[in-house]
Amino acid sequence: MERTLSLVKPDGVNRNLVGEVIRRFEKEGLKVLALKMLCLTKKQAEAFYAVHKGRPFFDELTAYMSSGPIVAMVLEGENAVARVREIMGATDPQEAAPGTIRADLGLNKGENTVHGSDSLENAAKEIAFFFSEHELKATER
Ligand code: UDP
Ligand code: MG
Repeated sequence: MERTLSLVKPDGVNRNLVGEVIRRFEKEGLKVLALKMLCLTKKQAEAFYAVHKGRPFFDELTAYMSSGPIVAMVLEGENAVARVREIMGATDPQEAAPGTIRADLGLNKGENTVHGSDSLENAAKEIAFFFSEHELKATER
C-alpha cells in the first residue's frame, strides 16, 4: 500500500470539479484518507513547488496556486503514486491521454486541474506539508 498527495487546483475548485476529481480517484479504488480545502499564500506555494524554483514558469505557477482555494487530499492504494499520475494524465492537457482528468478537464499546461506527487519520497514530504500526524491518525484503519 502507498499513500500519495493530490490537489484539486484553483481552476478545478472554481469550475465545481472537486467532486468529479475525487470520484475519478475513488472509482479506481483509491481511498481518501484525509481531505481539506484551504488557500495557500504565495510563500506557501513557493515552498510547495520549491523544486521548480528558477524555472521560467515558477512565478506564474505559484501566483496561480495561491489565487484561490484548493482541495488537498491523501489517497491510499496499491501503487497509489503511479496510479494517481496515470489517472491525472500528462502535465499539458493537450498531451494527456484521452480519459484522463487533465485531458478531459484541464484548461492549459498551467491550469491543469490536479496535482499528484511524482514519487513515494515526494509523496511523504507533500503529505506532511498539508496534513499533521493527528489529521492522518483520525482515519487510520
Ligand atoms: N507548469 C507550467 N508550465 C510548464 C510546466 C509546468 O505552468 O511548462 C505548471 C503546471 O501547473 C504543472 C506544475 O507547474 O502541473 C508542476 O510542473 P511539473 O513539471 O511538476 O508537472 P506535474 O508533475 O504537475 O505534471
Ligand atoms: Mg510535478
